[in-house]
Amino acid sequence: MADDDGRDDRFGIGDALMPLDDALADLTGRVNAAVGVERVPLRRAAGRVLAADVASPIDVPRHDNSAVDGYAVRHADLPPEGEARLRIAGRAAAGHPFAGTVGPGEAVRIFTGAPMPAGPDTVLMQEDCREEDGAVIFAGRIKAGANRRFAGEDVAAGRRVLAAGRRLRPQEVALAAAVGVTELEVYRPLRVAVFSTGDEVRDPGQDLPEGGIYDSNRYAIMALAEGLGGAVTDLGILPDRLDAVRDALGAAAADHDLILTSGGVSLGEEDHVKAAVQAQGALHFWRLAIKPGRPVALGQVGDVPFVGLPGNPVATMVTFALVARPLMLGLMGASAEAPPRYRVPAAFSFRKKPGRREFQRGRLVHRDGRLAVEVFAAQGSGILSSMTESDGLIDLPEDLEQVTPGQPLDFLPFREVFG
Ligand code: AMP
Ligand code: MG
Repeated sequence: MADDDGRDDRFGIGDALMPLDDALADLTGRVNAAVGVERVPLRRAAGRVLAADVASPIDVPRHDNSAVDGYAVRHADLPPEGEARLRIAGRAAAGHPFAGTVGPGEAVRIFTGAPMPAGPDTVLMQEDCREEDGAVIFAGRIKAGANRRFAGEDVAAGRRVLAAGRRLRPQEVALAAAVGVTELEVYRPLRVAVFSTGDEVRDPGQDLPEGGIYDSNRYAIMALAEGLGGAVTDLGILPDRLDAVRDALGAAAADHDLILTSGGVSLGEEDHVKAAVQAQGALHFWRLAIKPGRPVALGQVGDVPFVGLPGNPVATMVTFALVARPLMLGLMGASAEAPPRYRVPAAFSFRKKPGRREFQRGRLVHRDGRLAVEVFAAQGSGILSSMTESDGLIDLPEDLEQVTPGQPLDFLPFREVFG
């Protein structure tokens, strides 16, 4: 049986190994939003994907206003040397503009966020001033226009502030609110069916027979898919029987937009998932030149996209991040965005087999006051604690053969590759 730990490699049986980037290019080329749109109130919009551009009907900020508490003055009234003494003509607080005009030699007591009164162009900070007999006295030096925010300096009226395809984080929701929008057009949640497979796999809480194993993959996949905004249906554990797998996948395709499974995609005779997909749809690829996670089945059941993730728990999560996540985002209507990667020097040495890309679990450390990445000791694709005890994936390219300490490597934080 071909596992993804590199033992008993049987290259060349049937399909060739496909480089990850080729697979991803192929995948993103085909995928479009699979779901309809709806309008949601701003309060419910976080985590959703924007389906239409948002333009601002107003300038933000709406008016020139003060950035500090102090005194609004005409810069021309400040002498190049010595003290300025300006008569206080009024008061402007946030929500309470000063209605009059401010003449030469005059100032307005002003507070943060208050509109600039007509006349002044600069705000003196109150810490730099004192008041005496209805006048403000300032002895410092200040640039013209200081401490003043300009109308439209954040967003000019008419500008597109959010583009369709944007995943709405708290800051996008905040910006939509800042331009006065009350509802957003978003894609409906992607309906994701999740199965595990394997006669040895049991749900936590069930008795564990001899040779049994608790299902961790389904919980990982459900949490990952929900974290991306999917509406997940838990469809339990399938036995290692072709007819059962085929029927269950067929039924799930009726009312889901994506089917995710784990296990049963290797070369063993108990691995029926590929055959079950082929029986009622098509298999696009299933062998990637990556470790962990070589067997990843990507296809469709009827018209519904299908990803069969490998059974080993680390491989399941890594291939979810590498393959299922971009597919899922595409189907959700989100614009393609590769997760950011960071160049970090290695704090380890390692000999690598060329010809496939490896994603090792690593931890960020400080060495001599600098950030570096250390590799987690146990890299087996079943060692789930390598995920909880690490910070992310170290991406070792196909042709790399040797890592030496200090060598810069690409590091992908879990937060980014799963988020
Ligand atoms: P398979 O690809 O089905 O041969 O599974 C590969 C390895 O992953 C085997 O050791 C399985 O027992 C294990 N495995 C499969 N499914 C799960 C699961 N849902 N949770 C935890 N381990 C699993
Ligand atoms: Mg299995």
